[in-house]
Amino acid sequence: MKSYKTVNGLRRSIASLKAQGRRIAFIPTMGALHEGHISLVRMAVQDGCEAVVSIFVNPSQFNNQEDLAHYPRMPEKDSQLLVRAGCSLLFIPSVEEVYPPGLDVSLHIDLEGKDQVMEGVFRPGHFKGMLEVVKRLLDIVEPDFLYMGQKDFQQYSLVAHMLRMLNLSPVLRIGETLREPDGLAMSSRNLRLTPEFRQKAPVIFRALNHARAQLPLIPVSKIQEECLSMIAAEGLKPEYFELVDGNSLTAVSDPARHPNVVACVACWAGAVRLIDNLVLKP
Ligand code: AMP
Repeated sequence: MKSYKTVNGLRRSIASLKAQGRRIAFIPTMGALHEGHISLVRMAVQDGCEAVVSIFVNPSQFNNQEDLAHYPRMPEKDSQLLVRAGCSLLFIPSVEEVYPPGLDVSLHIDLEGKDQVMEGVFRPGHFKGMLEVVKRLLDIVEPDFLYMGQKDFQQYSLVAHMLRMLNLSPVLRIGETLREPDGLAMSSRNLRLTPEFRQKAPVIFRALNHARAQLPLIPVSKIQEECLSMIAAEGLKPEYFELVDGNSLTAVSDPARHPNVVACVACWAGAVRLIDNLVLKP
């Protein structure tokens, strides 16, 4: 695996792979890699692509400065994991390399309200920063495929929307959410959980499964109420538990009228904010 801090170095390496007829798969990350990230790299390699991974803790997508300051950083360990997973190129740029002075990265896209619900309500500005960095990284890497995780459902929905609106060529591929044996979705932020909250956090997945089991049986409002109570009963502080249409991200009240329904949840486990989701239908 070759590692680059500069756009020019990375681009030269990618150009040489493309000249050999290789297909490029891009996996953007913020590092502190776990099996969830690595599964995306393995998918890309199995699909016959050269995997290009970026590690960049993007300041513009953090609405909470505490979260940014405490975001785990462990580039050496990440690098070892990526080598083992078969990653070809690692891009680990500085903030100045991604946002050189004078470059306007702002986007002007109608997001059709998809950025105004769930994470958009509780993390103002997050999706603007996220889309800007993904677009900037896509401009740098120019991949054939973009791999993202189901874990960040709203994030990839917005990225898919951006790809469509801007007619960008990369094909988006989604990897399933990898979980710990007790059901907790793998996340870099799990490293910051206290032992007490780590033990309680699997209630999030239990609540999502409860929602799936109850969907055909009781009204959506009752499901939400029960799932929020389950989470709160463990001492976690839920921000939302929403059942949304998988395409429009609008709230679902009558599941029979929606072909895709996804339950999405965000909650605080002490000082750590966790998100998760589960496809309830189909
Ligand atoms: P992050 O480093 O948190 O920005 O995540 C980078 C990519 O890895 C995103 O596309 C995430 O959706 C994906 N990802 C994060 N956690 C998981 C997980 N538990 N399972 C699968 N993919 C994940």
